[in-house]
Amino acid sequence: MALMTPEQYRASLNDGREIYIRGERVADMTKHEWFQQAIDACSRDFVYDDPATRDIRLYKTEDGSMAHRVFQVPRTEQDLQAWMDLPEISTAATMVSLVLMAMWNVKGEVAAINPKYAENIERVYRHCRDNDLRAAELITDAKGDRSRRPIEQDDPDMYMRIVERNDKGIVVRGAKLHITAASMVHELVVLPTKAMSPGEEDYAVAFSVPANTKGVKIINRAFVEPHHSAFDYPRSTRVGVPDGFVVFEDVFVPWERVFLAGETKLAGVYAHSLGLWERVGGLIEFAHRAKRMVGMAALMAEWNGVAGASHIQEKIGELIFNAETLRLMLDAARRNYKVSNTGMVYPDPVAINVGKYHAATTFNQMVRILHDIAGGLVITMPTEADLRNPDLRPYIEKYLRTKPNVSVEDRMRLYSLVRDSTADAYGGWELVTTVQAGGGLAAQRIVVQRSYDIESAKHEAMVEAGIVRK
Ligand SMILES: Cc1cc2nc3c(=O)[nH]c(=O)nc-3n(C[C@H](O)[C@H](O)[C@H](O)COP(=O)(O)OP(=O)(O)OC[C@H]3O[C@@H](n4cnc5c(N)ncnc54)[C@H](O)[C@@H]3O)c2cc1C
Repeated sequence: MALMTPEQYRASLNDGREIYIRGERVADMTKHEWFQQAIDACSRDFVYDDPATRDIRLYKTEDGSMAHRVFQVPRTEQDLQAWMDLPEISTAATMVSLVLMAMWNVKGEVAAINPKYAENIERVYRHCRDNDLRAAELITDAKGDRSRRPIEQDDPDMYMRIVERNDKGIVVRGAKLHITAASMVHELVVLPTKAMSPGEEDYAVAFSVPANTKGVKIINRAFVEPHHSAFDYPRSTRVGVPDGFVVFEDVFVPWERVFLAGETKLAGVYAHSLGLWERVGGLIEFAHRAKRMVGMAALMAEWNGVAGASHIQEKIGELIFNAETLRLMLDAARRNYKVSNTGMVYPDPVAINVGKYHAATTFNQMVRILHDIAGGLVITMPTEADLRNPDLRPYIEKYLRTKPNVSVEDRMRLYSLVRDSTADAYGGWELVTTVQAGGGLAAQRIVVQRSYDIESAKHEAMVEAGIVRK
């Protein structure tokens, strides 16, 4: 059992993995300019000696050793509370590793169909937890024509599939798209994107391979460019990680790393094991973000001298209502926790899914309010380099001043935050991610409609109509 240091994490990424950025094959990502910001950000997840975060980041395992809390299966309300404090102090590269904890929870169901798979889950889980490794969750397939099943596609590789089985393992082919932090982790955990039917045995496949496995190619899309300063891009330079388009070109997976190879009944179990926890992480971030939006709007209004205007107050009120709705949803989800038949304590799925849906459907509107209050400087603000140029600084200081007690530099930093998080490359990423990550809006609607007690609602209506007695 060994926790990594930030330096060891950085070094661990130079393992011969086949990664690309902007069309270029990257020989060693730890030395490549496009990955420096992301590596710096993810390295901070390995700081274990900071008293402010140590107790959130670490937990004591059943063996008595310390491990990162993202691997902890919550067993009590206190465990759940501690687990839910993690996203605020962690990058996505750590949070996606929850995939192993979520799989640990379905081990029993898996074992009932094939005990070998359950043993394999346990082995990979322990390997990652005990060596402080990170794992990405690779679920979303290319999918081709969405109206057709995997076996009906023109190209049979549109969903990950088994192309060969032998006594040593399986060979797989396919691609998993939009994978958060794929290049920033050590293990790639591949799960089916949805339930599979009889006849689709080759598509009922789940496994885990190290990121440097032969035949795995990761095409990165990053939005924090090498020259970005933390002044101009305060949020993205702190938390941004590239997403990966991950190709599996006839990749060999030994049996010890296979979690599913043909039992279609289990495809849905795996596909659904993750959804809740992904949305928990998402909703925690959305609640913090909504609060930050209130703060940004209130500071802008004060510093620009419009805080007293009635339409501004009304708009800030709307931002507050949204932030409070999300905070209360999260609170309700935590307080109304459930316990699975394996003893896992998890937040109320209805509150989490309603919250995630609410956040996704209101985000555009909240951004519009923020931009309305802030004005055009959101996108035309001079940069840090302009401010540091002695020829330009006097003009910037003169024309960006609003009140004697408001520093021009602080005002520029605030506008940079609004632009970076809502109106630039990372802001665009936030906009799409809010809707799509953890599954699009339809996915949350399905969960809520399935879990909602519709019979009780019908009963109340019938009582009110005098059809039945209470
Ligand atoms: C930034 C980001 C990070 C992500 N991270 C990860 C990750 O780490 N791991 C991972 O596995 N995935 C990840 N995703 C993928 C995410 O889960 C998907 O984007 C999401 O599930 C939607 O899938 P899609 O993009 O293929 O869109 P589509 O599935 O094409 O959906 C687009 C629309 O079509 C509808 N639709 C699709 N199929 C059907 C159908 N058969 N019938 C009716 N309507 C249909 C959908 O409801 C939706 O409205 C990430 C996405 C983003 C944007």
